[in-house]
Amino acid sequence: MGIDRRKFLKVAGCAALGIAGGAPAAMKGGISTALASSTKKSTHGGKRWAMVIDLRKCHKADGCQDCIDACHVTHNVPKFEDPKEEIKWIWKEEFGHAFHGQEHEYAKESLKHSPALLLCNHCDNPPCVKVCPTQATWKREEDGIVMMDWHRCIGCRYCVAACPYGSRSFNWRDPRPNIEDIHAEFPTRTRGVVEKCTFCEERLAKGQIPSCVEACKENAIVFGDLEDPNSEVRAILGENFTIRRKPELGTKPEVYYLV
Ligand code: SF4
Repeated sequence: MGIDRRKFLKVAGCAALGIAGGAPAAMKGGISTALASSTKKSTHGGKRWAMVIDLRKCHKADGCQDCIDACHVTHNVPKFEDPKEEIKWIWKEEFGHAFHGQEHEYAKESLKHSPALLLCNHCDNPPCVKVCPTQATWKREEDGIVMMDWHRCIGCRYCVAACPYGSRSFNWRDPRPNIEDIHAEFPTRTRGVVEKCTFCEERLAKGQIPSCVEACKENAIVFGDLEDPNSEVRAILGENFTIRRKPELGTKPEVYYLV
């Protein structure tokens, strides 16, 4: 048995103990401490990916779904009629709800009632990673992407509960019959597995930009490396005031908004 396999079985064993005990691993001091720092190396070098979404441009194209459609087609995201079963990697929500506490009564009406584009924030301090008992989700050290390994996910949904942004969806049913046209280049998931946006890590590995960025005709989404002082994201963040979702939680989202 290889070292990796032995390590995995040990972790899975700890996970089983945590579940049998009826409490999240994060609540079980020893286990949670050992697993809290679950990070893995990537093949990318020294990057910190981030996204800037310009809601002023996004609002101009009211009703536009191009980025959402592109993402969901690329990643075989199923469509369920029942909102309780909804699987979403990128979606829209009313600004006042998504940025509760950052709006006020004098803010322009077009902003308050416009839908904001939301996705996993690839937080720098991700609470979802800390509670995963099987290391099925982890933050890549070398580029900051919060990854998912669907084969390791045991469906405990601790990460769903821990994410304060509603960025994770759970497959209550087999998603495959509800995928219109299966995209052969990307894996489908199964019943009992959590999923979310991975910043198109599979496309980045091929030198491509995320599919939502590529699909946006308004150039409302900019993606780049915060470690690169000459990147467009650094220029935008350096020259403009931007906001992030729920900054008071200390999760440090890597998705920024121009409003
Ligand atoms: Fe985790 Fe939610 Fe942050 Fe994404 S937005 S990294 S799922 S806590």
